[in-house]
Amino acid sequence: MESRYLRQIVLPEVGEAGQKALSQAKVLVVGAGGLGSPCLQYLAAAGVGTIGVVDDDVVDISNLQRQVLFSTNDVGKSKASVAGTTLGALNPHVKFQLFQERLTSENALEIGSSFDIIVDGTDNFNTKFLLNDVSLFLRKPLVYGSISRFEGQVGIFEGKNGPCYRCLYPEPPRSQIANCAEQGVFGAVPGVVGSMQALEVLKWILFQKKGQEDLQPLIGKIWCADFKTMHFHTLSLSSRSDCLCSKSERSLPASEPEKACGVPPQKTWQDYFQSSPRPLLLDVRSAEEYEEYHLPEALWGLQDQGGLSKSREIYVYCSLGVRSLQACQDLRSRGYKAFSLKGGLASFIENEKLTII
Ligand SMILES: [Zn+2]
Repeated sequence: MESRYLRQIVLPEVGEAGQKALSQAKVLVVGAGGLGSPCLQYLAAAGVGTIGVVDDDVVDISNLQRQVLFSTNDVGKSKASVAGTTLGALNPHVKFQLFQERLTSENALEIGSSFDIIVDGTDNFNTKFLLNDVSLFLRKPLVYGSISRFEGQVGIFEGKNGPCYRCLYPEPPRSQIANCAEQGVFGAVPGVVGSMQALEVLKWILFQKKGQEDLQPLIGKIWCADFKTMHFHTLSLSSRSDCLCSKSERSLPASEPEKACGVPPQKTWQDYFQSSPRPLLLDVRSAEEYEEYHLPEALWGLQDQGGLSKSREIYVYCSLGVRSLQACQDLRSRGYKAFSLKGGLASFIENEKLTII
């Protein structure tokens, strides 16, 4: 074993076997910003074998105060590309997969499917919810991280079972809470939280390999920090019975979920409104969400079998178009002609403004 890793191999919790596990691990980091920068550096330095980086942004001078992966000469360059070069210089044994694109409901399953564990380095709610649903669909763990001014949170959602991010926050807030650009961020805060995400990823990999009881990844827990007062506490989450993570147990495909990426065919809202006769419309969000708002003609839920017909096309929607993919998979396995509506209600609301009315 290379002397590069000597200082961690001497730890009984790592050893040669643990180092080998790290070198075989595939970790996807979504967002190479304030959280992603330190997280990526520690993952690469520790010898994680394959690291994926998803970021469609370019380096801005105002990023440098906290995004320590980048330097002044990188301003204007692609973050994913600079991350690949800089981290490659740090550790040339790591294989990098760089995705210079925004994570969407259309590419997320495909990108996520080739990794063992996903790190949330994002700063917006929609992507956090998308990552949560992707983690549940692919049954892969999600290392969650979040910062707000002088506060931070870290935790792991296990993916196969709840609790998940939706158990904590059922839906994205109606009014988007200010992102870093609007509310300000103290650079060392994402530095601590992103480093802790890397720590949890490494612990999770070693825990999977060696199952040591003294390595206790934050599975189903959220560590909360107030960096002004240095008060820390850890919450133990419980699964909500009406949450997607409880339902997904039944509707997720049991084998080869990667194949599901392209399987449920998708339609757009334009397709729906231009079809004659109109397909059946099915809303697969929670009962509460349905009650709050739904399209007038939409039936609700996979349980509403009475209203569905195997001879008529069914267009299925949810909030963002990920849960509806799962529902389509389930309906198709039972002989229904189901299609998932791309982008979900979010896309409908956007389209409504542009073309339909
Ligand atoms: Zn949940």
